[in-house]
Amino acid sequence: MGKIRIAVEGCAHGELDKIYSSIVDYEKRSNNKIDLLLICGDFQSIRCPADLDTLACPDKYKRMGDFRKYYTGAAKAYVPTIFIGGNHEASGYLWELYHGGWVAPDIYFLGHANSIIVNGIRICGISGIYAGYDYDLGYFEKQPFNQTNCRSVYHMRSLNVFKFKLITDCVDIMLSHDWPSNIWNFGNKNALLSSKPFFEQDMISGKLGNPALKEILDDIMPDYWFAAHLHTKFAAVYPHENSRKTKFLSLDKCLPKRDFLQIIQIDTPIDDTELNKKLKLEYDPKWIAILRCCSDLFSQEKSKLELPNISVFKEKVALELNALLFENHDFSIPENFQPTASPREEINKIYSNSQTEDFCKKFKLFNHINIGSVVNS
Ligand code: 5GP
Ligand code: MN
Repeated sequence: MGKIRIAVEGCAHGELDKIYSSIVDYEKRSNNKIDLLLICGDFQSIRCPADLDTLACPDKYKRMGDFRKYYTGAAKAYVPTIFIGGNHEASGYLWELYHGGWVAPDIYFLGHANSIIVNGIRICGISGIYAGYDYDLGYFEKQPFNQTNCRSVYHMRSLNVFKFKLITDCVDIMLSHDWPSNIWNFGNKNALLSSKPFFEQDMISGKLGNPALKEILDDIMPDYWFAAHLHTKFAAVYPHENSRKTKFLSLDKCLPKRDFLQIIQIDTPIDDTELNKKLKLEYDPKWIAILRCCSDLFSQEKSKLELPNISVFKEKVALELNALLFENHDFSIPENFQPTASPREEINKIYSNSQTEDFCKKFKLFNHINIGSVVNS
């Protein structure tokens, strides 16, 4: 058994320098080393001026932020960083990495939905927020994104929620941007209302939080769930039927004097002597099996997706997992970051990312992303 010390961040809003320097401060104060940073969305990975065109955000807030330095290598991530998408993202860039990948060295985007294994613990994440009118549709957004579809592409889709229900194994950590519906009932609701009185109306009408995330929470029952979006620190302990519990924590956005960072320590199955070595990131074979089974369900139509019977699919996934393990893959996630757009690019173009191509080729997945619309940089 070993331990991993994780820093969890709420919304990043492009403030990577401040987040990493807060981690340095914490390490100096506590004499503890942080192994991993998890960021719960609104990351804003803007590589170049053109990315501002597909940034889902009001014009007055559009600015480059710190990320470009990390993309070019001028700055280095202080700790390995994993993030999900929120509702303010560089949607064009992140679409290249629909299944996840490195947006910069040591900074891993989990994709629209994913499950990976870090030092033996399972970390899952789903990007985006809930908008009922887009929930059952395919990814109808055509590239290059405009100011409308760079937003809707970060509206969660039922197919990704379906994939999580197929995991059926223990999940250690789940990441989302918004909160599961009703989670606010399982923490200090009065304190929450005193800092955010305007939540009351939405609590009463049942609109505070995301019903799709509640389905995932009830289904996968993770040990920890981290979230952001509501710009306040809030902790809850959510009980499940079979005496399991989920420790929920939402954090604020990165602003002075706000509770935007929390340090937690988790036991890992990896031996303690390996602690000072590099973090070990692996694909989750179960997730790859799920992607294979769900590949034909992926749609780019603006019509309602009919999802199949879940029990039938659970059996399919079990068989596919056996086949996959028989193929003897190396499941370690390669450090294969490759820049696509030039950091000076001013025109919004479409790129096919070699990480997505390699991932699909390796695991024999059909690549639905950016094929047939490749523009070379
Ligand atoms: P963002 O930074 O993503 O634009 O917006 C987050 C802000 O919207 C936060 O200040 C949060 O309190 C507010 N917000 C997000 N979801 C809800 C909701 O369901 N109800 C209410 N009343 N406010 C929300
Ligand atoms: Mn948000």
